This record gives sequence, C-alpha cells and structure tokens, in this order.
Amino acid sequence: MPEWKILITDGLSDQGQQLLRAHAYVDDRNGISSQELFECIPEYDALIIRSRTKANAQLLNAAKRLIVIGRAGVGVDNIDLETARVKGIIVLNTPTSTSIAVAEHTLALMLCLSRSIPKADASLKSGEWLKKELTGVELYQKTLGIIGMGHIGGGVARRAAAFGMSVIAYDPLINADEIRQRGAEPVTLTELYAKSDFISVHVPLTNETRGMLGEQAIGAMKPGVRLICDARGGVIDEEALLSALKSGQVAGAALDVFLQEPPGMTELVLHPNVIATPHIGAQTEEAQVRAATDIAAEILAALNGEKLRWRVM
Ligand code: NAD
Repeated sequence: MPEWKILITDGLSDQGQQLLRAHAYVDDRNGISSQELFECIPEYDALIIRSRTKANAQLLNAAKRLIVIGRAGVGVDNIDLETARVKGIIVLNTPTSTSIAVAEHTLALMLCLSRSIPKADASLKSGEWLKKELTGVELYQKTLGIIGMGHIGGGVARRAAAFGMSVIAYDPLINADEIRQRGAEPVTLTELYAKSDFISVHVPLTNETRGMLGEQAIGAMKPGVRLICDARGGVIDEEALLSALKSGQVAGAALDVFLQEPPGMTELVLHPNVIATPHIGAQTEEAQVRAATDIAAEILAALNGEKLRWRVM
C-alpha cells in the first residue's frame, strides 16, 4: 500500500488524526502561512482544511500529486471548485457534522437579541443594575423567516417551533412539501420579508447569494426586524445593514460571520444593537469530533478509490 501524505492546515480533533495516522503519514501544520503552504503543497496527496485556508487556483496549480481536499465542516466557498475540477482533484466536506451546533448557536443568538443578554451581562459586571432599559421581546407567537432550508435551516425551524414561533421559509431549490416536512411554511422571498419579525439566513455563499440581503431587501422587511446570520460573511451587505440599524429599520442583528474575518473594531461590530461572535457557530466539542472523524474516514476512502458519501465534486 502506498504511504499517503496528508497535510492538515486548520487543526483537526485528535480522534480524526488518530484514524488518519493508522493508515498514512500526517503533518499537522495548524496555522501555516499561505506562502509556506504554497511551497510545501507539491509533497502531499491530501489536504484537510476548515474555513481559514484558501484553496485558491494558485495553490491548486502548485499541487503536483494532490488527489483530494477535505473540508472538515460545511462551506466550500474557500475552495476554487473550478480549478479543482479541471485538475481532477476530489473535493469533500462533512455536510451534517456541524448542523446541530450551528442550529443551536442560531437559537442562542436569537434569544440574546430578543432579551439583550450580552448587554445585561456587561452592565451587571460594570456595577449597573439595569432592568427597564433591558426590556426585551418574546419569541412566542413571532414569525421567524428562514432563508435556506437545508440541514441548518431545518434544524433552526424545528427548534424555533418549540418556542411557539410561526416559521416560514424561502428556498427555491427545495419543493414545498419538503419545506413543510422540515418544519416551515414555504413562502416567496417578498412574503418572507413582509411578514417576519426575525429573519435567519442559512444559505451558502454563491454568486446568487452574495449581497442578497442588501439595501433593497432590507427596505422590504418589516420595520424593526431582527436579523441573524450564522451562514457566511458577504450574504448580508454590511454597509446596508449598518445604515438600517442607524435608521431603526433593523432593530438588532446577530452576526457570527463577516465579510472580512476577523472584522476588527468596525462600526458594525461596535453598534449597540449588534451582537457579534467570532465565527463560532460550529465550535462545539461534539461537532469538532464529528467533523474530524467524518472527514478522516472520507479522505482515506478517496485515497483508496472507495465509494464516497460526501463528494462535493
Ligand atoms: P445546506 O446545503 O444543507 O443548506 C443550504 C440551503 O440553502 C439549501 O437547501 C439550498 O437549497 C439553499 N439555497 C441555496 N441558494 C439559495 C438562495 N439563493 N435562496 C434561498 N435558499 C438557497 O447547508 P447547511 O448545512 O444548512 O449550511 C448552510 C450554510 O451555513 C453553509 O453553506 C455555510 O456557509 C454556513 N455554515 C456556517 C457555520 C458557522 O460556523 N457559522 C458552520 C457551518 C455552516
């Protein structure tokens, strides 16, 4: 059996690494710079990344024996799929490993937004005792609009129903019956904007979804809407969101993802009605172990020419 060489660039839980090390030579170079990666990539048969590493055309063209790239997680927008296709490099991900973690995080953001939990905690720790100023709103009997009813959107729908929310969803790639089975009433995007008190975004970043929630879309929403984005930076137009927060059109926003990560101390991040977390949607112990063991098994299957469960292309 050939000695496969596998490179890990964004970390991988021990359970996944142990699986790989039983069958291959593994280099764990968490945090490697793009220049170092470019220089060493010709040595490897497989590359395992998360969201930090950019597997762009330059990197893929420098690879000499790369058979497979594995994304331990969901989004593959940091991989140049067209170049991978042209070079015959298999691209894999672990589409379900982090869905529960992100769905739970989305509910956490929604509750933090509706009850100003971060502000309440910070004020108490600074010696204040605010009550009237921190009056919130209930999720009960509010309408939640979900854009993108895939693994995470469906998970959010089921959890929101337990809070007594009325859940509507827009997803042009899933039929109406399937959307209902996943826990939401299918609507058009216009209806979703007009009816929702909370809107949660769960689409991948693509040419169609980039800037999807811009000035026009936000203007069509119910005044005082609360937005949650646990998907990808770039889906919401950050400038449009900031001006809508200033005008009050958007009452609050909770963001786990940003156009630039880390975003720094931007006006948007510092806005008092914004709750911002550092892309931690998938960051649970359970999800990380699941993603690591799933991608390890799948990478070994790809190297050995076996049947694949989650081939992106
Ligand atoms: P998924 O593929 O199961 O679901 C995405 C859904 O979006 C699909 O049902 C698809 O039909 C729909 N969609 C595509 N284009 C659309 C459009 N223009 N309008 C409406 N719907 C559209 O993916 P998922 O597992 O639910 O993950 C969703 C996204 O969440 C990922 O692409 C990723 O970017 C993001 N994510 C973020 C984190 C985090 O840490 N915050 C972790 C995992 C995933």
